[in-house]
Amino acid sequence: MSPSRRAVERSGVAPSAAASTSRPRADRLRAAVENQDGRCFWCGRRFSPLVPPTTDHVVPRVKGGPSWRENEVAACRRCNGERGHQGPVEWLEECLRRGWPADVGALAVTLARLETAIVERGGQRRARPYLDGQRRRLEHLGR
Ligand SMILES: [Zn+2]
Repeated sequence: MSPSRRAVERSGVAPSAAASTSRPRADRLRAAVENQDGRCFWCGRRFSPLVPPTTDHVVPRVKGGPSWRENEVAACRRCNGERGHQGPVEWLEECLRRGWPADVGALAVTLARLETAIVERGGQRRARPYLDGQRRRLEHLGR
């Protein structure tokens, strides 16, 4: 990967809608791991051969969440598996209860970015109201 492309990814600004949706899943996962400094989005554990990263959908696939980079974070298998189909905010609350360093601000940014992507690309009739509900829930959490 070129340094300039890495800088773009680190900044979190998608180069273009087409580029971010057509990239293979493995590439997207690698980019997510980099953006998260090599740590699980939820529990903060560092990825390693024993703790491999997996693709976790912020808005679950069963709730209509798209396979877009903006809807994907890198999570360890434990978090991905235990979260199951729970909403991202419900799972974040569970992480905090467990004393894990789940990042409320990072989730807020991720949800906002996904909303922007949905507005720009259209569609996602099921994911939209679900995302709205999650963002409201997160606002209450921050209070
Ligand atoms: Zn984890």
